[in-house]
Amino acid sequence: MTDKVTKDERSRMMAAVRGKDTKPEKLVRSGLFADGFRFRLHAKELPGKPDIVLPRYGTAMFVNGCFWHGHDCPRGRRPASNTEFWNRKLDRNFERDQEKTRALENDGWFVEIVWECRLADDLKRVLRRLRSKRTRLRKAESS
Ligand SMILES: [Zn+2]
Repeated sequence: MTDKVTKDERSRMMAAVRGKDTKPEKLVRSGLFADGFRFRLHAKELPGKPDIVLPRYGTAMFVNGCFWHGHDCPRGRRPASNTEFWNRKLDRNFERDQEKTRALENDGWFVEIVWECRLADDLKRVLRRLRSKRTRLRKAESS
């Protein structure tokens, strides 16, 4: 039997199997926590089980690996071999991501995506938005 999966592809697949609690996700969590934000993880009752949920801020977050979620960046490039297999799989992931976001937004959630390849910048952006929301909430509560 021939093994059509290259070493590189296999290690990517193994990384995806580990799924939860990936390193990028941990970095995002500690960034939020250090800034005083409290959150829940893998909210099973919400569409698409967001990686991080901040109920007080109406925010649901996904920390996406570029390859699996088809980011438009070098890491998101599709493999040159087994193209049919990968196109099918990655197209499905993409559609699923769109559906999750739509479902969450319909339920009134603000959806934030943090991409692996630009984690620090995305996290900064998210923190900026959350901080200004926190200021507004505190003002509203104290008046
Ligand atoms: Zn990327």
